Amino acid sequence: MNGKHLINSIYRASEGEGIFVGRPQVFVRYQGCAVGCLNCDSKDTWEFSDSSAQSLDLILNQVYEEGFQGSIKNVSITGGDPLHPAHVPHVFELVKRLKDKKYYINIEAAGTRVVDEIFDLVDFISFDFKTPSTGVKTPLRNVSKMITQYQGKFQMKAVIFDHADFEATLEAFKSLQKEGLNMNFPWVLTPCYNVGEKFPMERFAEIISINEANGAHFRVIGQQHKWIFGPDKKQV
Ligand code: SF4
Repeated sequence: MNGKHLINSIYRASEGEGIFVGRPQVFVRYQGCAVGCLNCDSKDTWEFSDSSAQSLDLILNQVYEEGFQGSIKNVSITGGDPLHPAHVPHVFELVKRLKDKKYYINIEAAGTRVVDEIFDLVDFISFDFKTPSTGVKTPLRNVSKMITQYQGKFQMKAVIFDHADFEATLEAFKSLQKEGLNMNFPWVLTPCYNVGEKFPMERFAEIISINEANGAHFRVIGQQHKWIFGPDKKQV
């Protein structure tokens, strides 16, 4: 990559999901992901394409301009998979420069890796728990590590398509609880809203109801940007 960052896009938008929903920020979306979730809504970010290479200075400049000349100080680093080993040295460099400029940084983690060198530096980690409908698995030891090392600066997020996804998330929650870990952190269920689909009102209602009836361990938060702009629109 010759010291270049592979970037899909840099844009300003309000956070659409998770506990920061509604917060204006600048997204830095890395290009390249090898995780392969079946229901991925950003398949355009999968290819590690050298044609998307950008210099660090150019990225910092865009973050500044998209954030109304630095007045928006929240940045979300996402992808793709910004924690893929090919991205890690570059993301590390970007995080350091943004921290020097006093930005608040959230990183979106796919749940497949805990990358201490980056997690120690950022302000917040949004860590995925991959459910069966994604076709990918988050090792429970990764969640344990998040709980023991990063308490107070992370949220878990699980995309829920059906009952099997809810059951798998509940089972993970209970077995972590059984280990005696401190489960007092936000764990968000994101009802799946697929590209090309109509707003899945029944799925939302069902997930809210099964969460209430099964211990109410989770927060159900949909993807607000999809309600407003539709499930297919990018950079919103
Ligand atoms: S980790 Fe993210 S970008 Fe990669 S396949 Fe899964 S949902 Fe898509």
